[in-house]
Amino acid sequence: MPMFNLTSLRLCQLCDTSPRSKAGVCLDCWRSLPWFKQEVLRQEMQIWAACQYDYPLDRIIQQFKYQQQLHYQTLLSGILAELKYVGVQAIVPMPLSLPKLAERGFNQSVLIAQSLSHKLKAPIWQPVLRHAEHSQKGLTRQERLINIDSQFYLAPQQSLRCKRVLIVDDVVTTGSSIRALADQLEQLGCTHIRAACLAVAK
Ligand SMILES: [Zn+2]
Repeated sequence: MPMFNLTSLRLCQLCDTSPRSKAGVCLDCWRSLPWFKQEVLRQEMQIWAACQYDYPLDRIIQQFKYQQQLHYQTLLSGILAELKYVGVQAIVPMPLSLPKLAERGFNQSVLIAQSLSHKLKAPIWQPVLRHAEHSQKGLTRQERLINIDSQFYLAPQQSLRCKRVLIVDDVVTTGSSIRALADQLEQLGCTHIRAACLAVAK
């Protein structure tokens, strides 16, 4: 009797025709993601971006976040784990405010950081919390930055555990949230703060 390998019969999550090869998708689909794998400069911070925020990744991220398509965690987490970086003591996912967390049920940045956390043997660390976002409408650029800055605060009784940290976010546009989070981590005493995201928007 030939042995059946059940996992080899599972089909790619994107094209649904070829067998899965990596992170829940087939090799063709994996290769045709909008790969970028470069650093971009935002708010005076170098942010490593795995991909461009383009098709099909833009739709996948939206379905993951807003339609609870959580089976994409394997793929998104696998994409971020392409980052090769040593010396990280902890991964700090971009925090969500409590109302947003309650509405969505999960923090997408925590989920997409899982594979990278295993690979780098660096735990997920959440020393910074976030207030509910206020509308940015009608604010000047300067006011927007102050508005974002005031959203982040240190969790009570937080003592420094890790100095070398990596911030993880899903999609980066202006980079102002990452900057504001990095400022809090600096206040806490972190000395090496790097940032990585799944996708960077043009
Ligand atoms: Zn495929």
